[in-house]
Amino acid sequence: MKKAFVILGMGLALLAAAALVMTQTSWGQNFLMKRLIATTLLDTPMAWDDPDVLRVFVCGSASPLGVSERAQSCIVVAGGSTFFIVDAGAGSTANLIRARLPMRNLAGVLLTHFHSDHISALGDTNLVSWVGGRTAQLDVYGPEGVGSVVDGFNKAYALDRTYRTEHHGSELLPPDVGPMRPQLIAMGEVMEVGEFSIRPFSVDHDPVRPAVGYRFDYRGRSVVVSGDTNALQSTATALRGTDLLLHDALSRPMVHAMRDAAATAGNTRMVQILDDILEYHAHTDSLTDVSREAGVAMLALYHLVPVPANGIAESIFRRGLPSEIRLVDDGTVFNLPANADTIEVVQIF
Ligand SMILES: [Zn+2]
Ligand SMILES: [Zn+2]
Repeated sequence: MKKAFVILGMGLALLAAAALVMTQTSWGQNFLMKRLIATTLLDTPMAWDDPDVLRVFVCGSASPLGVSERAQSCIVVAGGSTFFIVDAGAGSTANLIRARLPMRNLAGVLLTHFHSDHISALGDTNLVSWVGGRTAQLDVYGPEGVGSVVDGFNKAYALDRTYRTEHHGSELLPPDVGPMRPQLIAMGEVMEVGEFSIRPFSVDHDPVRPAVGYRFDYRGRSVVVSGDTNALQSTATALRGTDLLLHDALSRPMVHAMRDAAATAGNTRMVQILDDILEYHAHTDSLTDVSREAGVAMLALYHLVPVPANGIAESIFRRGLPSEIRLVDDGTVFNLPANADTIEVVQIF
């Protein structure tokens, strides 16, 4: 018995000595740093270029209302060596990098409308894919107005692109690939890019006009990203039989509570803003019927107005919703195997 204690003691002493060497000596710290950097830079959470899976990755789940650590509106749709980003809200670029997406393969950014929470990271999205080795100009799709938004970002980043090409050379960062290229979409007209069929459709985000959502079809699977809309039935035809619907969602009880707090504090500006917001996002209790009638297999809510800050807030947000409806977070990934009917949901960070 005594011998066992001696052996255990020696083992613990050895472990403590090893921990000291690893954390307190230059050699140990350098070893740990190299391992950490290799993991951070090279490990990828999934095979993004698998051609047999339609993947949907939430790179931004927040709306501008409320305070949260999350990025604003951003959804990646990937299949094989092609992927798209729907909207580029603040903070989303960091999530693209965290997910180790092959940024050189970015085939286009699709904008739903031009509210700041959907476009503010557009310049950085272009930059990281250019630096990542993209070989053609980045196409930015959107309704009327996309030209002026893209021109503005191109102008704002013009000096930055010059510095980088001068510093790293035009072979590594070709200047003609640097500026983005606007692509005006036509409502209801299907675009074919690689194996993807993409269909934009009008949504009601009044007084913001135009505002659109997008339907993606790939190898027998489909996903619809609603953009910002109040979920009127008019969008239901675009949803018909889709596998996965990612929809804008507003919690009426939470926004009412915020409005009452603002009124009690005498903040009349905030009261008016919250009243206005109530009218142009989808209330959670309106979504279940729309998606059920359209035959949507899975409904997931993003662009959360506001992002629930804790478990109690999430319960309030979910009030009246069937348990199978998901509230997404940054890092949520939906895997839809080609020509099947299953959907796997994972959280990659
Ligand atoms: Zn909006
Ligand atoms: Zn928005």
